[in-house]
Amino acid sequence: MNSPLLSRTVRVGNLFMGGNHPVVIQSMTNTDTLHTEATVEQSQRLFDLGCRLVRITAPGLKEAHNLENIKSRLVQKGYTDPLCADIHFLPEAASVAAQIVEKVRINPGNYCDRKTGKTEFSPAEQQAERQRIGQRIAPLLEICRQHGTAIRIGVNQGSLSERMVSLYGNTPLAMVESALEFTGICHDLGFDQIVVSMKSSRVEVMNQAVRLFAKRMAQNGLIYPLHLGVTEAGNGQDARLLSAIGIGGLLADGIGNTIRVSLTEDPENEVPVARRIVDAARELQKLPPSDWEQKHLKIEGCPLSEEQKTTAAIRLGKLMLQGQKEGFRIETQDPAEGERLLNDLLQASGLKFHKTRFIACPSCGRTKYDIQKALAQVKEMFPDYPDLTIAVMGCVVNGPGEMAGADFGYIGCGNGKVNLYRKGIDVKRNVPEAEALKELKKLISESLAESSLE
Ligand code: SF4
Repeated sequence: MNSPLLSRTVRVGNLFMGGNHPVVIQSMTNTDTLHTEATVEQSQRLFDLGCRLVRITAPGLKEAHNLENIKSRLVQKGYTDPLCADIHFLPEAASVAAQIVEKVRINPGNYCDRKTGKTEFSPAEQQAERQRIGQRIAPLLEICRQHGTAIRIGVNQGSLSERMVSLYGNTPLAMVESALEFTGICHDLGFDQIVVSMKSSRVEVMNQAVRLFAKRMAQNGLIYPLHLGVTEAGNGQDARLLSAIGIGGLLADGIGNTIRVSLTEDPENEVPVARRIVDAARELQKLPPSDWEQKHLKIEGCPLSEEQKTTAAIRLGKLMLQGQKEGFRIETQDPAEGERLLNDLLQASGLKFHKTRFIACPSCGRTKYDIQKALAQVKEMFPDYPDLTIAVMGCVVNGPGEMAGADFGYIGCGNGKVNLYRKGIDVKRNVPEAEALKELKKLISESLAESSLE
């Protein structure tokens, strides 16, 4: 059995995270935050399913203020569970939200950094930047202190600041240094009600970043609760396996205090998946790793249950994330099912691709189109391109950064329009949704034809 990484305890309203408290399952609404009733009802459903914390996006000041209505409606209905506001780019929205909800998520990559195109930073500029962040964040921490609000420092590989990327590359180390910079600033300002996350759509990157961060926290003796998640995981079985590998392996090793499974599906679907991962990891945690980290699994039952697939993903995924790609075997009643599962696990681990890789965000209040339908159509149209990664994202604000590494991108901009990307560049803008799939197909075919001529 692995000894868990014992973090300090952080209070989030009537909930405690970290220390010896059980792993908290959370999710996020995808309604428009200005639609109070829809957001309240979806939050209720998530709480009823077993979420202990619900996150709601606050892209602007209007949405941040509307959290007050959402919160009071929920309390009126008897839901006193905590809410978290999701903030990007707007410190003022964070300051408003921190007076209303129990937790505020900020992203160090865009809390007060904006893209300028700068690629080099001298030590003096670094220092000045750190001071600037301290000055910008101090008022927020003061509000949090007064209101008993916790903060999540939510680092995403797809939205690291230019400064971090220039220093460390777009790497797990850059994610760790970004989180350490923000936790360090908060520590210097005397604030410790912090939870930290490090997410990526690539499970191997997320896994490395979290493990490295856990090690660095243990070395410096300041251990904050960790929020785990694989972002832009997409939908269906692939997203479930990806999440089980990324989140489950860490939990089984005693790392992680709260989790969110991100699916491009109704958020209500995330909760049972998260529950299965927590349960499977808890069972594995009782065993010595040598008992469960094995390359050969024999599983009874046909078809395999979701629980069996989750446990298999955690067990084999742990070794796959160490870079091992050969010698795995899943023996099942239906040999074809075992082989399919193994191939899907190798694909999810980023080791061997046998079909197209899809990245898709779970959507949130920023999404102004039917992303679930678009993802289903894109997947159906391009199933078998093992060399391609195609992203379907919910908004043009965070989508382009978060889909970094995708060969092609399909981002709904609202008003029935879509932007299409190739290698991170928007090559077709404002394509009517009705024509977007056809245009994407044309773009991919032209690119494949060009590369075959090279
Ligand atoms: S990329 Fe998706 S989840 Fe992220 S902010 Fe945009 S719509 Fe929301």
